[in-house]
Amino acid sequence: MEYASKNRGSILPTALLLSLAALASTVSPSGRQEDPRAEIVNLRRATHPNFTRIVLDIGKLREYTFGELQDPGRIYVDVLQAKLNPILQGQSYPVKAEYISQIRIAQKTPSTVRVVVDVEFPRVQSYRVYPLYDPFRLVVDIYPRGAGEAGPAAPPAPAGKPAPPGAKTQPPVKREVDLTDPSLNGTSMARQLGLGVRTVVIDPGHGGPRPGTIGKSGLQEKEVNLAIALALRKLLQEKAGLEAVLTRESDVDVPLEDRTVIANQKRADLFVSIHANAHRDRKRGGVETFFLNVSPDPSVIEIAAEENATSTKTIGEMKLILEKIVRNSKIRESLALAQAVQKNLVKALAQDLPGIPDLGVKGGPFWVLIGGEMPSVLVEVAHLSNAREEAKLKTKKFRELAAQGIFDGIMEYVRSLGKGQSP
Ligand SMILES: [Zn+2]
Repeated sequence: MEYASKNRGSILPTALLLSLAALASTVSPSGRQEDPRAEIVNLRRATHPNFTRIVLDIGKLREYTFGELQDPGRIYVDVLQAKLNPILQGQSYPVKAEYISQIRIAQKTPSTVRVVVDVEFPRVQSYRVYPLYDPFRLVVDIYPRGAGEAGPAAPPAPAGKPAPPGAKTQPPVKREVDLTDPSLNGTSMARQLGLGVRTVVIDPGHGGPRPGTIGKSGLQEKEVNLAIALALRKLLQEKAGLEAVLTRESDVDVPLEDRTVIANQKRADLFVSIHANAHRDRKRGGVETFFLNVSPDPSVIEIAAEENATSTKTIGEMKLILEKIVRNSKIRESLALAQAVQKNLVKALAQDLPGIPDLGVKGGPFWVLIGGEMPSVLVEVAHLSNAREEAKLKTKKFRELAAQGIFDGIMEYVRSLGKGQSP
């Protein structure tokens, strides 16, 4: 299960976006001019096997620049119109990676905060700096040499586009051409046939300490999602010769924002997030598929924001997210993919559960779908809250039928690309 508004809707008109922008003023209700600087209160960093990620929590949209300095090697990021919380002034953070020694942060000028990463450039393959929204933050990903296939030698434009006004759209900074990068000379069957879909990222929802929804008998959503995802990967690889990548392959949690980042880094052509549903009414059952969309009614947007538990978001920040969605031309493709998956999934599951309800395709503001640069859908396979469907979701047969249904839907969508029309 995922939180989202269940309301159908079309895209916000530009005029409404502009009026939302007008509301996001820097003048307080008392008329006093507020400090225009955004306060930086937190710097997070984590070293993964294939990269180190640094996240600067800024909260408000701010321009930034970045660059390199030599002797000693440094990557710096300057955040403009920002002030550092005094607690962080002059702080340094050690990093457990042989290619980074430490991260430092300081107020460089009264209006600029600088983050410096001390790096061993000969050991760094590439890095990139990009914004994420809701709330606004800057992310620095640094990839060491020899990190294996997960290290993107030339990742695409990052999640979190568009860049803030005035900020340059930053391509990844690649430090050396990697001829072993399979994407440079990949010749999968799908690509040779000109089908336009080569890589599918499958996202089994939840994991680790986040079980998702739990059925009455104790069946956990995270386990169901992963089993279906593994079966789907096998079908995509063996029956279609496509590359299929999972956002998680075991019982671990992956932050929502990282899931589409993985898809973007893999230059995936499709993103499919797999979930099992829950509803207060335990009699309710069935299959539904979502794509990313927003409702035109501002009151619905507020409800959606609450349901996504992002109460700190301002109207101005919400506007940026909505603008991004409005500009996202993948909505039509996502809808087509959702329709093909929904139709085939219902058909497959009905073999084992005749009459399973078809709840249809719906647009919803799912955070896991924001940031993906490819057609992206979220599938709620069946209801764990419904005893009959929970009993089925426990079985290998039903899980394999679910994988088969989603697979059939993906292939129908892929074939429709070849014909130049939606299924
Ligand atoms: Zn879920």
